[in-house]
Amino acid sequence: MAADPRNLPPPYEGGCACGAVRFRVEAAPIGVRICHCRICQQAMASPFIVQASFPKSAVSVTGETAYWQSSPRLRRHFCLRCGTRVTIEPVDGDRLAFPLATFDDPGALHPEMHIWVTSRIPWLKLDDGLPQHPEASPEPYRTPE
Ligand SMILES: [Zn+2]
Ligand SMILES: [Zn+2]
Repeated sequence: MAADPRNLPPPYEGGCACGAVRFRVEAAPIGVRICHCRICQQAMASPFIVQASFPKSAVSVTGETAYWQSSPRLRRHFCLRCGTRVTIEPVDGDRLAFPLATFDDPGALHPEMHIWVTSRIPWLKLDDGLPQHPEASPEPYRTPE
């Protein structure tokens, strides 16, 4: 699936609520997804997460974080001072994801699909026209440009 043509070009910068953790990305996203899975709901204390994934080589992160390993393949890094969940790291891949809400410009990128809609919170109405996948995305991440 192609990136949304309304996306602003890189670089992208962002960070946690207190400013101790900052990140900078020098590449276009390889996927921007809205996840409704229960682990994302609980980990983000939010009805869903919107996250953009990037090739790890294009990302730099400064500031001290700790992580919770939410599954054998996923580490969720957070700021030790304010607790903002800044980075999601698959341990078996060469990519990193950041919630769009942590971007300095949270509207810079646009989501491409909903995933794990089987656990969508029932009062949440989806009318954005994006594809809705019952579980994980059937499409792979894009090859980095
Ligand atoms: Zn912080
Ligand atoms: Zn999820």
